[in-house]
Amino acid sequence: MELDKNLLGKKRENYLSWDEFFMGISKLSAGRSKDPNTQVGACIVSEDNRILSIGYNGAPNNFDDDKFPWNREGKPTETKYMYVCHAEANAINNYLGSRKDLRGARIYVDLFPCNECAKQIIQAGIKEVIYLSDKYNGTDGNLVSKYLFDSCGVSYREMEKEHQKVLKLSLKPDEEIEYLDEKRD
Ligand SMILES: [Zn+2]
Repeated sequence: MELDKNLLGKKRENYLSWDEFFMGISKLSAGRSKDPNTQVGACIVSEDNRILSIGYNGAPNNFDDDKFPWNREGKPTETKYMYVCHAEANAINNYLGSRKDLRGARIYVDLFPCNECAKQIIQAGIKEVIYLSDKYNGTDGNLVSKYLFDSCGVSYREMEKEHQKVLKLSLKPDEEIEYLDEKRD
C-alpha cells in the first residue's frame, strides 16, 4: 500500500529537540533540590533516547532535610560538602533496574561534573556528558574530571547554544510550553 503524501498532513514544527527535552527534565529535577545556593539536576538517557533515571543534589536518603547542614562556610563537619549527594551520583544510584542499562548511556547535567561524580559516571559505563555550565573550569577538581573523562573514553560537550532555550513551563491545564527567547512557528 502506498499512502498519498499530499493527504498526510504536516508534523508540528516547534517540538523540543532531544537535547532540549532531556536538559529540560534535568532542570526540572533541580527544582526538587532543597539546597539554598546550588540546585543541580541530572538526567540519564539510554542510547535509544529513553530516560533511565533522574537525580538532584540533596541529603542522603532518610536524612532529615531540616537537620542537614546547608552552610557553605564554617567547620568542615558543619558544611554541606561532606554530606551532600550530588545530582549525578543520585541519578546513578536511584536507578533500580539493571546496572547494565547504564552502559553506553549519556547524562544531562546543569553543571559540569565534579571529580567524584566523574568517577561514578565512568564506573557506571556512561559514555557522554552534556552540560550547560562549566563555571568551575580550570579548578583542580574540574581539571581532574576532564583528565578522567579523557583517559577513560567519556566524551563531554556543552549543549549547543542554539538549544539553550528559555522555556516557560506551565502546570496549568491547556497551556503549552512557551519559548520565551525565540519565535518558533
Ligand atoms: Zn559531583
